[in-house]
Amino acid sequence: MSKKIRVGILGATGMVGQRFIQLLDNHPEFEVTALAASERSEARSFAEACSWKLPTPMPNWVRGMSLQTCQTPMDCDIVFSSLPSSMAGAVEESFAQAGYPVISNSSNHRMSVDVPLLVPEINAEHIELIKIQQKRREWKKGYIVTNPNCTTVALALALAPINQAFGIEAVMVSTMQALSGAGYPGVASLDIIDNVVPFIDGEEKKVESEPQKILGQFENGMIKAADFRVSAQCHRVNVSDGHTEAVTIKLKKKTSVAELIEVMENFQGEPQRLKLASAPSHPVVVLKENNRPQPRLDRDLEKGMATIVGRVREDIILDFRFTLLGHNTIRGAAGAAILNAELLAAKGYI
Ligand code: NAP
Repeated sequence: MSKKIRVGILGATGMVGQRFIQLLDNHPEFEVTALAASERSEARSFAEACSWKLPTPMPNWVRGMSLQTCQTPMDCDIVFSSLPSSMAGAVEESFAQAGYPVISNSSNHRMSVDVPLLVPEINAEHIELIKIQQKRREWKKGYIVTNPNCTTVALALALAPINQAFGIEAVMVSTMQALSGAGYPGVASLDIIDNVVPFIDGEEKKVESEPQKILGQFENGMIKAADFRVSAQCHRVNVSDGHTEAVTIKLKKKTSVAELIEVMENFQGEPQRLKLASAPSHPVVVLKENNRPQPRLDRDLEKGMATIVGRVREDIILDFRFTLLGHNTIRGAAGAAILNAELLAAKGYI
């Protein structure tokens, strides 16, 4: 049996860090060998330092592992980063410079011209940017690859097949975002019980700018952004996991509800062709019941790795509208990063 790729996790005790540990338990290619968090957690065991919030038990192998601070060296071949954006930028650069491939969840480098904002079903060819990044930054072995914001990735998976078939002109989206998206302890209970908060700092800007880079074309060593506009209104709601989004779109070509559903259901990409371990069999699942998707009932379909779409219908102002759901800490964070790493390994970048 070939040896597994050794993985370190930066921000291992957080909401996303815990998902990494849960999803990497018994992973066929990766083995967690190092964990890092803040100075508060330094030298403590994972079981002591982490307030575990997932419904499955903390795996035994991780309980006694010791936490270090987020500095090189780390005893691993690659690092997954789920650090707060206040420090992720500089830390990730220091790891890449020291020779580690950094697969990041944080927003700091997503929009950098030489950093892939990777959704392997949509833009696997954007990994070509890694060579340009390494040359530009004089990094020999290390590099940074990012996954999108948790709201964006669910939206981008639904938009990609539609854009490919009919061309998107404009997108309006209103989101209802889960509490786990704010990390732990996150939003105070008295702010969110019996309530909706119509503001998530920085979120609308990310949802309005990341999709165009994700759906952009890799040409002449750079990404030419897709030319549609997105208008987003983001809300925090009293749901534990799963972001719901009400989407309205204007298209360049005429089509029908049936054709829209068909292109979304038939959407396949590189992870499905390569049969990557975390790839959903269907990256977009369309539900036909008129009261779905719902976060509690549908977020775990395809193990949380797909966008779940429902209520596809014509719109009376733009062209079409639908509701979608994405699991924010799985496809929106840790699962996305793991799928990115699986693609990078399959393509010889790890
Ligand atoms: P979180 O629950 O607050 O966890 C933060 C992690 O970072 C913890 O491990 C914490 O360690 C560590 N940390 C905090 N301050 C640090 C410091 N000064 N130095 C080193 N480590 C430090 O946050 P999260 O929800 O997991 O989010 C992590 C990142 O992923 C953020 O950039 C977020 O925007 C992004 N993200 C989150 C989601 C989501 O759905 N939650 C989705 C996509 C992207 P201690 O335990 O030692 O404090």
